[in-house]
Amino acid sequence: MALYVYKFGGTSVGTVERIKAVAEKVKKSQDAGDQIVVVVSAMSGETNRLVGLAKEMQPQPTDRELDVLLSTGEQVTIALLSMALHNLGCEARSYTGAQVRILTDSAHTKARIREIDEANMRADLDAGRVVVVAGFQGVDEHGNITTLGRGGSDTTGVALAAALKADECHIYTDVDGVYTTDPRVVPKARRLDRITFEEMLEMASLGSKVLQIRSVEFAGKYNVKLRVLSSFMEGNGTLITYEESEMERALISGIAFNRDEAKLTLTGVPDLPGVASKILGPIAAENIEVDMIVQNISENGTTDFTFTVNRNDFTRAKNVLEGLRSELGGSTTLIGDNSIVKVSIVGVGMRSHAGIASTMFKTLADEGINIQMISTSEIKISVVVDEKYLELAVRSLHKAFGLDQD
Ligand code: ASP
Ligand code: MG
Repeated sequence: MALYVYKFGGTSVGTVERIKAVAEKVKKSQDAGDQIVVVVSAMSGETNRLVGLAKEMQPQPTDRELDVLLSTGEQVTIALLSMALHNLGCEARSYTGAQVRILTDSAHTKARIREIDEANMRADLDAGRVVVVAGFQGVDEHGNITTLGRGGSDTTGVALAAALKADECHIYTDVDGVYTTDPRVVPKARRLDRITFEEMLEMASLGSKVLQIRSVEFAGKYNVKLRVLSSFMEGNGTLITYEESEMERALISGIAFNRDEAKLTLTGVPDLPGVASKILGPIAAENIEVDMIVQNISENGTTDFTFTVNRNDFTRAKNVLEGLRSELGGSTTLIGDNSIVKVSIVGVGMRSHAGIASTMFKTLADEGINIQMISTSEIKISVVVDEKYLELAVRSLHKAFGLDQD
């Protein structure tokens, strides 16, 4: 007998019919002898609808009330799913996050889970019941309802799986797994049978929005086997797990990209101690997240300083730098470009193989694509290129690293 946590996203529970289909699936697993805890999201569009209502009421509602409001979406789904299970003669009980006692900190709208009381769930499971839990929410030590940030039901699923030491956590969604890259850009993209936590984190943080990033971190930390699979199709999906030495792996697991990038360059910056912090300090003070940073060797006592930010923050970052120019002295000029993208190759195989970077750069060169910035980490190489080359870059790299489906 195995214990599984199944998490169903908004599309999978988007209508009464779909909730019935989820119930069938759960019933089937239970009939096969497994113990099942189900975590559900709000019906698709519901959380956005609630956010809209709040905005109509007040331009800036307090986060506490926002959490009270947003957590109701999931409460609707747990009740409906439990009813659907009852219809099938399956004993099921629904619980909100607070009822389970998913204890979080008090950071409303982005709370972190501290502790989960698994005794009640365990008792239900042992009594042969299906446990249905509202995703995305918890309760703080003062009894306030909290939510875990958009997409947070994934994290609920993983956290429950960790607390219950489940055999696997299944994330049922509208795609049938994790792909080597976005199939809309590369029709020959392949579904991966498995991927490591580390790779998945890189892919997710680079814009493959299959899972909430925090859920992957959580799964890695507690070694929860995480499987992404489709609610609508049969198949084994993609298993996210630890790297196993005998794991037959490609050099590169995937090509990720991010369209929301913008680049800022200061030229003629005096090459003195403290300059980098003088530039990035005020950027951080504005809560602007910086991604890549490049500073080159200096010539005649001045240097260039380039960094990238999210495109939404471009104008704000530019204004900050404008204000800094006189303070930095010299003949500092500011150049901004918000039509760039980042393309990255990701793979743990990179650790033990030379020549990956040169293959990447040659592939781009052969397509006549100019590389504007490069950054590397242990399992990732990223380049910044003009946005007009995005599709071409991703497609040619996908092919060059042997990821195309035949
Ligand atoms: N309902 C929440 C959202 O839309 C949480 C989730 O679906 O994971 O973000
Ligand atoms: Mg989701």
